[in-house]
Amino acid sequence: MLTHAYGFVSSTSPCSPTQIERREPGPKDVLIDIAYCGICHSDIHTARGEWGKGHYPLVVGHEITGTVRAVGADVKAYKPGDRVGVGCMVDSCGECEYCAQGLEQFCDHGIFTYNSRDQWGQTTQGGYSQAITVQEHFVFSIPDAIAMDEGAPLLCAGVTTYSPLKRWVQPGMKVAIVGLGGLGHVGVQIAAAMGADVSVISHTMSKQADGLALGASAYYATEEEGTFKRLANQFDMILSTVSSTDDYTSYINCLNKTGVMVNVGMPASPVDIYIRALSPRRTLQGSLIGGCPETQEMLDFCAEKGVRARIETITGDQITDAFDKVVRSQVRYRYVIDANTLGQR
Ligand code: NAP
Ligand code: ZN
Repeated sequence: MLTHAYGFVSSTSPCSPTQIERREPGPKDVLIDIAYCGICHSDIHTARGEWGKGHYPLVVGHEITGTVRAVGADVKAYKPGDRVGVGCMVDSCGECEYCAQGLEQFCDHGIFTYNSRDQWGQTTQGGYSQAITVQEHFVFSIPDAIAMDEGAPLLCAGVTTYSPLKRWVQPGMKVAIVGLGGLGHVGVQIAAAMGADVSVISHTMSKQADGLALGASAYYATEEEGTFKRLANQFDMILSTVSSTDDYTSYINCLNKTGVMVNVGMPASPVDIYIRALSPRRTLQGSLIGGCPETQEMLDFCAEKGVRARIETITGDQITDAFDKVVRSQVRYRYVIDANTLGQR
């Protein structure tokens, strides 16, 4: 069946109206009428070919909320009318050591929501569209307490920050979130809700009031003289969400002697790190979104703790402009596309 969408025909094209094919639900599938889709910086890296060649024509978007329209015969958890979400993944083998642990994001046969090849050899197309068909396992329940628009960004920004914070944070720990963007502003709230003493390390002081209102007890800007010197050896954990290359060594030096820095930012270019900064016994770790069980756990946690994305709702014809504003750090703090504006229903 055809659905209205906004997509890209090349790495330099604007985001333009199009129509894409969605499969009729198979036995284990859920067909979802999309209500909202967040704009993640990964959508921009992908659409612009910054991580390698995209499979154009391409519709991106992996922060999806909506309502179930229909379900296949074997679907147990969902029924028409249910409030649901879809994140960065739509398929995996279901059998490997990672899938068995609920770490589907590491499956060698994992299929991402867009720009992947699905089991039928088609390029997966994402959430800047009005409908999507997804296997039940990769569909999540949106708790009633979470509004569909403010909830959409949790499907990527929420789980990407929740996963490493859950892994490391103990109440009272000193945690710094680097970059107050889409990921960072959710990360600050989650870390504070876990009982951490949270600092924001941004490039500028311009978002200080917001950082403190989101739950941070301190806010620093690297453009201010002496910031790195002042923060040396201060933090138990640093979570970096920066979308560009940056001075990673200086952040590592802000860890205490046994601290851990988790990097989730994915700049397109390689970065230099002065590896001696990891001595005495610091840890540098990566993290990739989160698995399916952890995604539902995160949604329930956010519902209970009042963690929500701060959003600016936009229409389909504003997406091209919104991408530029995200790159310039002008979004406060996540653009969310109203799917009703992508074409006639
Ligand atoms: P975003 O909303 O653009 O936020 C990124 C933040 O990085 C900005 O708000 C800014 O914070 C800082 N920044 C921007 N430009 C910069 C520059 N030139 N130099 C240094 N810092 C800069 O992006 P996002 O959606 O949160 O995503 C952040 C990164 O995480 C992207 O690279 C994205 O692809 C990646 N990501 C990874 C995963 C994963 O699973 N690992 C999942 C989702 C996204 P300040 O203004 O406060 O400095
Ligand atoms: Zn994302």
